[in-house]
Amino acid sequence: MLSAPMEIPLAGRVIGHEGIGKVEAVGSQISQFAPGDWVVPASIWNCGQCQPCLTGLENQCEISRLLGLEFDGLFANTADLPPSMLLKVSDAVGGPDDVVALSALEPVATALQACDKTQMHEHSRVLIFGGGPIGAYAAMLARCSYSCQKIDLVEPIDKRRQLVASWCDEVYSPGQFAQSDQYYDVMIEASGDVDNINRHFLKMAAGGHIAVLGRCGRSLSIDHVDHMITNGITVQGCRGQLGGYMQKALELYKSGSLPIASLISEVVAGPAPLERLQQILIAGGYGQAAQCKRVLVLDAASLRF
Ligand SMILES: [Zn+2]
Repeated sequence: MLSAPMEIPLAGRVIGHEGIGKVEAVGSQISQFAPGDWVVPASIWNCGQCQPCLTGLENQCEISRLLGLEFDGLFANTADLPPSMLLKVSDAVGGPDDVVALSALEPVATALQACDKTQMHEHSRVLIFGGGPIGAYAAMLARCSYSCQKIDLVEPIDKRRQLVASWCDEVYSPGQFAQSDQYYDVMIEASGDVDNINRHFLKMAAGGHIAVLGRCGRSLSIDHVDHMITNGITVQGCRGQLGGYMQKALELYKSGSLPIASLISEVVAGPAPLERLQQILIAGGYGQAAQCKRVLVLDAASLRF
């Protein structure tokens, strides 16, 4: 089913790559999953056989495929997914609140990988650009899991700044942050505006690490290369959540140390959830009024326990 790359078909694509579902049926060769299991899909399919896959770099699989883009995703009542993409989460699901929270496990795991790659620790001063789900969960993780010394976040939308405030020391609008003269050990660029890296590169302290997540198709230039060399600053790309990060994120949730649901600002349920989402989007609900994470319940019966 996933052997060759494919274009997005003219007939359309089922989008969506963050979610949770219940196994409805399994193939005859499948023993690790059974109907009724709760599972969370990774957003990337990987082959498990190429050089990156064999060396633990599954995120960089040479023939990786993106769920909801290169094959049909989760905005549907059923999805046909290979078992290698799925993490069983049944033992963390005690009721509907867990289902809603774990629907965001995928962006949590992506943020966790970014935090891990920047080697953040309790003395780290952390700067995050972007208060969407990845940036917001990175702030939550920096606070709850890494106990970082200082966590600042830059985000243009008021509501998102309010939502992430409890995980941060300072939350700035981009205009406010331009006046800041703080120094940081970690920068996580999750806004998609890679120019933030160059714009604020001199704020990076010695030994600093920069993780870049928001793919935007633009070039990155760094004016202050001497600052990078002198201070041994690294810039690295960071993608997806394979390589065990989903499992680690699940363990954090099960330990009770990660309130994933606190960043879920709306649960859209009811008889026609996709139509309701369409209304929200047409009304501009993804712009100034945007919240952080909206969960769409496509099968209301699945939330009855
Ligand atoms: Zn591979």
